[in-house]
Amino acid sequence: MLPDLVDKPLALLFLQDAATRTYGHTLLFSIALCLAGLAFLLASGRTYGLALAGGSLGHLALDAMWALPHVLYWPLLGGGFPRVHEDISFLEMVWWALNDPVRVAGDMLGLLALALVVAWVVAEKGIKRLQRDARHRAVTTENEPV
Ligand SMILES: [Zn+2]
Repeated sequence: MLPDLVDKPLALLFLQDAATRTYGHTLLFSIALCLAGLAFLLASGRTYGLALAGGSLGHLALDAMWALPHVLYWPLLGGGFPRVHEDISFLEMVWWALNDPVRVAGDMLGLLALALVVAWVVAEKGIKRLQRDARHRAVTTENEPV
């Protein structure tokens, strides 16, 4: 969902009736996420960044971005982003997108993936806290006078 979370507010706030698939839907954005995810993995040993980058690449596939090469390969094929629907407003475009079952299914998969990542992070933190508390209890019990 990250590409949409980047591009939709941009379109709403700054681009108005222009394209809703811009910077977040480029291969450059996903490559940058992969590099950032690798750096995060090397620095912390955690794979969250790579999971985010993989989700972003999956989003580009679900959005069939190969059909919009000027967006996918931006800026290699030119500087601008093509408008998808020049004759309708942003809100009309959102309504149109919500009525496309393939697009809605892709977004639902994205929401599910996001929920799984959040659940994974929360579960990992919970497990680490339980392990830390168990170690603390074990040390405290060892030091108690008999
Ligand atoms: Zn998208």
